[in-house]
Amino acid sequence: MIRIIDITLPFDHKEEALAKSILERLGIPEHQLLNFTIVRKSIDARRKNHIVAVYTIDVILTNEPELLSRFSQDNRISAGPCMNYQLPTVGKVHGPSPVVVGSGPCGLFATLILAQLGFKPMLIERGKEVSSRVKDVRNFWRTGQLDPESNVQFGEGGAGTFSDGKLTTRIKDKYNHSRKVLEEFVRAGAPEEILYQAKPHIGTDNLVKIVKKLRNTIISLGGQVRFVTKLTGIKIKDSKVAGAIVNNSETIETDTIVLALGHSARDTFEMLYQLDIPIEAKPFSIGVRIEHPQSLIDKAQYGRFAFHRLLGPAEYKLVHHCENGRSAYTFCMCPGGEVIASSSESGGIVTNGMSRYSRNKSNANSALLVGVTPQDFGSTSPLAGIEFQRRWERKAFETGGNNYFAPVQLVGDFISGRPSNSLGEVCPSYTPGVTLCDLAECLPGFVVEILRLAIPQMDKKLKGFARNDAVMTAVESRSSSPIRIVRNETLQSPAIKGLYPAGEGAGYAGGIISTAVDGIKIAEAISSKTLKATV
Ligand SMILES: Cc1cc2nc3c(=O)[nH]c(=O)nc-3n(C[C@H](O)[C@H](O)[C@H](O)COP(=O)(O)OP(=O)(O)OC[C@H]3O[C@@H](n4cnc5c(N)ncnc54)[C@H](O)[C@@H]3O)c2cc1C
Repeated sequence: MIRIIDITLPFDHKEEALAKSILERLGIPEHQLLNFTIVRKSIDARRKNHIVAVYTIDVILTNEPELLSRFSQDNRISAGPCMNYQLPTVGKVHGPSPVVVGSGPCGLFATLILAQLGFKPMLIERGKEVSSRVKDVRNFWRTGQLDPESNVQFGEGGAGTFSDGKLTTRIKDKYNHSRKVLEEFVRAGAPEEILYQAKPHIGTDNLVKIVKKLRNTIISLGGQVRFVTKLTGIKIKDSKVAGAIVNNSETIETDTIVLALGHSARDTFEMLYQLDIPIEAKPFSIGVRIEHPQSLIDKAQYGRFAFHRLLGPAEYKLVHHCENGRSAYTFCMCPGGEVIASSSESGGIVTNGMSRYSRNKSNANSALLVGVTPQDFGSTSPLAGIEFQRRWERKAFETGGNNYFAPVQLVGDFISGRPSNSLGEVCPSYTPGVTLCDLAECLPGFVVEILRLAIPQMDKKLKGFARNDAVMTAVESRSSSPIRIVRNETLQSPAIKGLYPAGEGAGYAGGIISTAVDGIKIAEAISSKTLKATV
């Protein structure tokens, strides 16, 4: 197999143009090209009048060795790398089942790999199975009645179940871990295009079905999955895990616990802290969701090709570095999506964004964030970042009217420092409702200052970003974990053998793919113990 990179064609090229391009690049007749697969396809819209599709292709040819030597000086043509993930070798699997805590992408993939390796893992999840969870979340969005154990953060599938399901990641994929995640998603029903699109997304509608299928696969391989089962304590003997205490009442015997808790398990973080498990405060970000008409983003990004069916709704990513060293940036942009109520704690507002696979809603939204560091938290406690988040989430709740209505302000008013008292053309998508206000009441002063500087600068890169009636909804406080649960080179807590902090909550990954990959690495680390035991 030979890999060819940088095959560039007009984005609306005819299907047969790709094969023609391959033949031209290689200078070969048609009969020598036996097959080809698209490995990656990205859209380059930097030149608005000349939007192109850029491909990486693996080809199978009749005369590969000869061609490889002919193109040995061309770094766009090389031998195709292996793209298969290899499960690690395991020794004899015995002893009690590993317990994986949390069914987000990290916990799901840790459990799946352990099950594929012949362990009989037990996955425990504090929230409900996904169908019941969807009902609870919809009820919250409709009525403002929050279930603190079944919401956008807690329940089967974890935080990413209600999301755009963007599968982009910046992590390198030397061992094909990301590929493994994508392939398992496709096996569970995700569209095949995620295997090659440069910016793949699944959408909430597909994610709900996919997590259910992954659960069934785990069970079919001998794993167990328990819902409404919260880790409330850890039995420790001689600095080793001896059991998982759940729901304050039952002890599950195990010598291995994977903590795939996500970033919102505040009560569990407190419990770990009380057990003297090493935890550090870590930087994260805070800010708002910003909404614009999707049509504005499409025109700004695609010019005359805006609304072309082959391009879909456009995305953006913006950053502005201020002179004082702080930066503002957009994050987790959801084209054609909705701003959603993502609280998990009573009396606090948390915003986030999601889209369906079709991304067909009228607004685009994105987090607009400013980084914060432990120096901003006002305390040296490892859990100080949680208190910081909580403080601003509660202020947003009060500003919104103490009923889970989110505080909103129009961009023009925000920049001028006056409260908003009416909406413009952009209709906020957040439910159960919004309250017009002055966001300076529920954001740290330095965040307000940085955003006021950054938004007009961002408008220079994306025309219309600072449009007066764009809507800002507060507060986006859970973009990543406020803590790190320390782990050593064996991926275990240095204090407790058999305890594996993992994923976003532990502060080692963020986003669906990177947390799922972290889960795979944890499963590999657990399996490597069986080899040592066998030797
Ligand atoms: C609305 C929203 C949209 C997002 N959109 C995207 C996106 O488009 N693309 C992307 O890459 N990322 C997105 N993210 C981020 C992504 O979802 C997270 O990075 C990812 O889910 C983290 O995975 P995780 O497995 O580490 O933790 P989580 O997914 O948070 O899962 C942790 C699980 O642990 C459970 N749990 C916690 N404590 C306990 C306990 N004591 N006992 C038992 N169970 C417990 C929780 O209920 C939860 O189900 C989004 C997040 C949100 C909230």
